[in-house]
Amino acid sequence: MFHRVEELRLRLKDSGLDAILISQPENRRYLSGFIGTAGHLMVSQDKAILATDFRYTEQAMRQAPNFEVRRTEGDITKWLPKLIAEALPQTLGFEAQDVTYASYQAMLKVLEELDPGQRPSLVPTENLVDQLRAVKDKEELDTISRAIALGDAAFDHVSERIRPGMTEKQVAWEIEKYLRENGGERLSFDTIVASGVYSAVPHHHTSDKPLEAGEPVVIDMGCVMDGYCSDLTRTVFVGAPDDQFKRIYDIVLGAQLTAAATIAAGMTGNDADALARHVIEQAGHGDHFGHSLGHGVGLAVHEFPRLGKGSNDVLADNMVFSIEPGIYITDWGGVRIEDLAVLEEGRVRVLSKARKTELHGR
Ligand code: ZN
Ligand code: ZN
Repeated sequence: MFHRVEELRLRLKDSGLDAILISQPENRRYLSGFIGTAGHLMVSQDKAILATDFRYTEQAMRQAPNFEVRRTEGDITKWLPKLIAEALPQTLGFEAQDVTYASYQAMLKVLEELDPGQRPSLVPTENLVDQLRAVKDKEELDTISRAIALGDAAFDHVSERIRPGMTEKQVAWEIEKYLRENGGERLSFDTIVASGVYSAVPHHHTSDKPLEAGEPVVIDMGCVMDGYCSDLTRTVFVGAPDDQFKRIYDIVLGAQLTAAATIAAGMTGNDADALARHVIEQAGHGDHFGHSLGHGVGLAVHEFPRLGKGSNDVLADNMVFSIEPGIYITDWGGVRIEDLAVLEEGRVRVLSKARKTELHGR
C-alpha cells in the first residue's frame, strides 16, 4: 500500500503542498489500509500519520503498518494542532469535496490559535487521491473481479426465478439474500428493480408493484467484497418479448457492444460516451438517453473516471468503469444494459458475465 503514499507525495510536490489532511473515508482506506469508519491522515514528504480515536487505535496499528498511529481525544480543535506540530507544513491541503463548512471553520480557528511561525496556509484540493484511485493495481482488480462474479451469480440465480406477480421489492430481496448468503459484505447501493412504465425511470425507487407479463424489468444491482463494489444492470422481459422491446433492446445492446469494441486508452470520457451515444442517436433515440455512459468503480460505486458528455478524464490502462447505455421512453418503459470493464493494453476487457439477452435481429 506504501506505493500509493509515494504516489500522493509526488502529487503534493506538483501541487506545491507540504502536507495534506485526508478526511474522505475511501481515500483514507486506499492510502492506509485502515478500514475503520473514523480518522484522518496527515501525509507530508516525511510523515504518514493516522489519527483516530480510542475505538480504533488498535485496529489502525494492525491495518496500517506504514502509518504512525496517533490517538485523538476530543474534536478537531484538540488534535489538529498536534498533527500540524509533527508535520510542520507551510502549506496544508485539505479535501474540499469532503470537508464540511463547520469543519472548515474549526480548522480556521485552530490555525488562528497557532503561533504565526507555525501557522500553515490552508489550501483546498480537489480529487488528488480520487484520481490515483481511478487506476487499479493487481490486488484491487482481483477483489473487484470477485465482487463482479458474485453479482453475476446473483443475477443469474434470480433472473431464472422471476415470475409475474412477484413484486419489485421481492425481486430485490431475492438478490440481496443471495448476495449476503454467498459472501457479499453489503450492497453497493439499494437494488433497483423497475418494471413496466417505471423502467423508464433510471433511478426508480423499488416498489410494491407486481411484475406483469408483457413488461420490461430493469434490474440494477451491486455488492461489496473487501471494500470493493460491483455494479451490474440487466433488462429482462416478463413473458415473450414484443417487437417494441426487441427493437429498443437491440439498439441499446448495439450501443454497448460498439462502446466495448471501440473505447481505447487515451480517449477522454467525453469521446467514450460519444461512441455509444452516436449509435443511439442514429436510431433516433438520442433524446431518450439522458444519462452518462459510465463511471469508474472501486472503493466507491461512482468514482473516476467519468464517461459522459463534457468529461475530460483521460482513460488509461487498469481503469475499471461501467459501460451502461440506456433508452427510456415515458409511458412505455426502458432498457439499460451495464457491464463493468477494465482497460488492458489500451483496449476494453469486459468483466461482467451475467447472462444477457442476445440481439434479436430483425
Ligand atoms: Zn448500476
Ligand atoms: Zn453504474
